[in-house]
Amino acid sequence: MAKEKQSAEKEYTVEEKLSTLYQLQTMVTEIDKIKTLRGELPLEVQDLEDEIAGLETRLSNYQTDVKEYDQSVIAQKNKIADSTALIEKYKTQLDNVRNNREFDNLTKEIEFQGLEIEFAEKKIREFGELANQKQDEIAQLAENLEGRRGDLVQKQNELEEIISETKQEEEKLREKAKKLEAMVEPRLLTAFKRIRKGARNGLAVVYIQRDACGGCFNKIPPQKQMDIKLRKKIIVCEYCGRIMIDPELAGVE
Ligand SMILES: [Zn+2]
Repeated sequence: MAKEKQSAEKEYTVEEKLSTLYQLQTMVTEIDKIKTLRGELPLEVQDLEDEIAGLETRLSNYQTDVKEYDQSVIAQKNKIADSTALIEKYKTQLDNVRNNREFDNLTKEIEFQGLEIEFAEKKIREFGELANQKQDEIAQLAENLEGRRGDLVQKQNELEEIISETKQEEEKLREKAKKLEAMVEPRLLTAFKRIRKGARNGLAVVYIQRDACGGCFNKIPPQKQMDIKLRKKIIVCEYCGRIMIDPELAGVE
């Protein structure tokens, strides 16, 4: 416990801090490269999953529509059965009519029920057509969905392959980066992360290259280069804000 506390409070020289930061930069750059390798795949997988979920919802809605049309057809068929039964009943009653008025009434009722049957048959045809149209759309949608699902499996496999190929390497890098981060004082680490976020290439620590900043390639005055070489202060590029170190500290030259 005491030992842990001691190490956490250990004071590093500026040179050590810069060296640690540069090592950290190297690790996170390697992790960035792995992420670049995965590229747009994670996003493409997510998009496909969203699209498939949308298509599945639409398919389910269409299937509900078809069920409703089928139920409407059944309802119309029941109406036809009722009307047919009534016609049968009226026809039996026709055999026992006592006067013309009764005969006329029954005939009218039979005629009316006949029209009801015709109307119901027309409805059945209409619902049938609607159901057929929906079925066509369902078939098209199902085909589309199948294609998208195939695409998703392919993309997922590609992504998994890349991840499995790079997983061990990435874990090792992340572990190393974590250890290095623990050695950097919080304020400096926050600054490092902020600079990195703002830099297009993710570089927060760069070394001087041909008298210029290795991040933005603006010329650095000789006096500043001297200060950088001395490793007594943390010096940032006045143009891009990146932390600059001398090539020797980066193990270059
Ligand atoms: Zn710069």
